[in-house]
Amino acid sequence: MQEYGQNWEDIESALQQAKSKDISYEKVLSSMCTYPHPVAVEAHRIFIESNMGDYGLFMGTYELEKSVLTMLGDLLHNSHPYGYLTTGGTESNIQAVRAMRNACTSIKDPNIIVSGSAHFSFDKIADILKINVRKARILPDLVVDTEDVLSLIDKNTVGLVGIAGSTEFGQVDPISELSKIAIDNDLPLHIDAAFGGFLLPFLPNHVPFDFSLPGVTSIAIDPHKMGLSTIPSGALLFREEKMMELLKVDTPYLTISSQCTLTGTRSGASVASTYAVMKHLGKEGYQQVVNKCMKLTNLLLDETKNIGVKPVIDPVMNIVALSVEEPKKIRTELATQFGWQVSVTKQPSSIRLVVMPHMTEENILAFVRDLKTVIQQ
Ligand code: PLP
Repeated sequence: MQEYGQNWEDIESALQQAKSKDISYEKVLSSMCTYPHPVAVEAHRIFIESNMGDYGLFMGTYELEKSVLTMLGDLLHNSHPYGYLTTGGTESNIQAVRAMRNACTSIKDPNIIVSGSAHFSFDKIADILKINVRKARILPDLVVDTEDVLSLIDKNTVGLVGIAGSTEFGQVDPISELSKIAIDNDLPLHIDAAFGGFLLPFLPNHVPFDFSLPGVTSIAIDPHKMGLSTIPSGALLFREEKMMELLKVDTPYLTISSQCTLTGTRSGASVASTYAVMKHLGKEGYQQVVNKCMKLTNLLLDETKNIGVKPVIDPVMNIVALSVEEPKKIRTELATQFGWQVSVTKQPSSIRLVVMPHMTEENILAFVRDLKTVIQQ
């Protein structure tokens, strides 16, 4: 660090220089994040100093958090959820599994059964929580094989996890069946709807995935993905207070006597931004956002079919995995020749595109033109 402070103009110019090296979202088809809604940005700014880690000092922000939980509960069919706003899907998943583990302290070598399509946050969970994460087989349509889930359950199993919107393919596990298995085996069932939570409720005839299913005990849903809030904004909801209480630690020197959260200091700005954008958009606004993304997803599918490229599965949501030869090479060429950012899936290998709200019809058409060029080279 330098000895003396710099003036704002110099700092701003350094910031702008750094910003110019960042990629703007217009040509990004690999991310599950997007530009936050302007209302969320403004609310974030107003609450910039608010610390929910010591919410006795920030009771106004605390009330906003309660409102957000009620709104999320309404979206996910739970009129009285328990939970809190996290930093994102990773934290929500860690905490959900931590609660499962803490509910069974007598089990010395605990395991959980997760869908084989689970996000890599579950690898972190295995490491941090020292719990066996057993990955159940995936069927050809990329949903979890519930027979395999059943076969993996043993006396050391402390919980199950299903995915509602898998990271790679946007697929939804048969959560109704997982719910039955959870009830029959007296196990908690966590649903990772970090991506799908703000999307599935707005798709016609979507499969049930939330608290409407009696076996579902907790859900991760991320406002900083399809919820258009600012980063970091995640949420973890529990059906029962006693599950949340399993996360409690005493906090002697704060204005509050205990915390159930993972982080100590916690952004109140994210709480305010999530509150603001959810209030501003309402269900009607999110419906329009999802309609736009799905319309562009269908356009992408039609256009890619026209150039002879097929999807790995019929997309359930705004995530399209395209079967191409040498996906890694195609990804590199798309980036170096045309500036497109796409990702590559592991199994089956394909190029993966997430059609987020920052996409436009013009850019989808331009992308497919460039994809055709790259494939024909
Ligand atoms: N769960 C799913 C299904 C995801 O797609 C992601 C991120 O892409 C996560 C969890 C992790 O979310 P975050 O990166 O916000 O921690």
